[in-house]
Amino acid sequence: MNRRSVETVKKRKPTTDSLSSVFDVHVHPIRTVISAKSLVDEMDRAGIIKAVLLSLDLDPKILYSDLKLREEILDDLWAYSYFINPEQILDSMTKILQTGVTTNKYTAEICKMYPDRFIGFGSVNPRGSKKYVSSTLNEILSLGLQGIKLIPTLQFFHPQKNKNIKNIFKFATKQNWPILIHTGKDPGPFEIHTLRHVQYSHPRFWKKAIKRTKAKIIFAHLGGYGVSDDESWINSALEIAKTNSNVYLDTSAVTYALEDPVTVAKLRDLGFERILFGSDHPVVHGTSMDHSKKIIQRSPILTEKEKQMILFENANLLFTS
Ligand SMILES: [Zn+2]
Repeated sequence: MNRRSVETVKKRKPTTDSLSSVFDVHVHPIRTVISAKSLVDEMDRAGIIKAVLLSLDLDPKILYSDLKLREEILDDLWAYSYFINPEQILDSMTKILQTGVTTNKYTAEICKMYPDRFIGFGSVNPRGSKKYVSSTLNEILSLGLQGIKLIPTLQFFHPQKNKNIKNIFKFATKQNWPILIHTGKDPGPFEIHTLRHVQYSHPRFWKKAIKRTKAKIIFAHLGGYGVSDDESWINSALEIAKTNSNVYLDTSAVTYALEDPVTVAKLRDLGFERILFGSDHPVVHGTSMDHSKKIIQRSPILTEKEKQMILFENANLLFTS
C-alpha cells in the first residue's frame, strides 16, 4: 500500500452499513441535563451514527405573565383542586418549562461541534406575535438548522386556532424542512388529561394544515405519548399518514409499542417505510438510547428488514432526499 492510499483509508468516514447503523430522529440536547459530549458518548454506546437534536422555544414565565392562560389552566385543574394545590402544579409546570428551554442558537452551536453526528431542528413558539414568529423562523434559517419542532403542550397553542401555523408551514415547505410535531401528553403535570393543551396535542387537529402542505411531517410518539388507553390518537395519526404520503411517525418514548402485536399490525398496514426510530433521550427516565434501540432490535414480531427500515433506512432517506 503506498503512502497516498494509506491517507485515503485514514480519511474515510465511518461506514454507514445499514445493517448495524442507527439513526435517531428525536433527541433533546437539554443543556442542564446532558452535555453535547455526553450525548455523543451515549450515541456511541448505542451505535447511533446520527441524531436529530430538537430545540424547544418555551416561555417559562408564561403561567405568571399571561393571566388568561393561567385562568384556563386553573379551570382545567378544578377537578383536582380537592387533593392537590393548583398553584403547586403551576409551579411544577414552570420548572419543566425552565429546564426544557433549548435555544436555536445552542442547538446550532453543538451541531457545529459534531457536524457528522447531529442534525439540528429549530423551534418557534406559535403563541408569539406574527413578527416574533417571522424573526424566529429567519433566525432558524440563518443558523443553518434543518427543521422545526412544534409542541402544543409546552407551547400552549391550538393547532387549528393558532394564526401563525399557516406561515410556519409555508416557511418550512419553502426551505424543505421537516416539521416534527409532539403528540400526546408530556411528563409530570402535563400528564393530567383535563388540561386543554394536552387534548390539543391530538393528531386530528393537524389534519387540515397537513392536507395543505408538502412539508414532511413527523408525528412524535406514534401519535400520542401516554395515551395508550385511547386508540383514537394513534388511529388518527395513521389515518392522516395514509392519506398524506409526506407524514411519518416516530417511536420516541413509546418504543415498547413495537412489541405489541396489535400496534405492529396497524403500522404494517400503513407501511414500515413511514416509521422512524426516536429515543427521546434524555427525557425518558430510566432508559438509554441503547435500551430503546434494543427493544426494536429484539422485537420478535418485526422482520429483520422492518427493523433496518425503522432504525436507519427510513430516516437516512428522509434526510438525504
Ligand atoms: Zn421529545
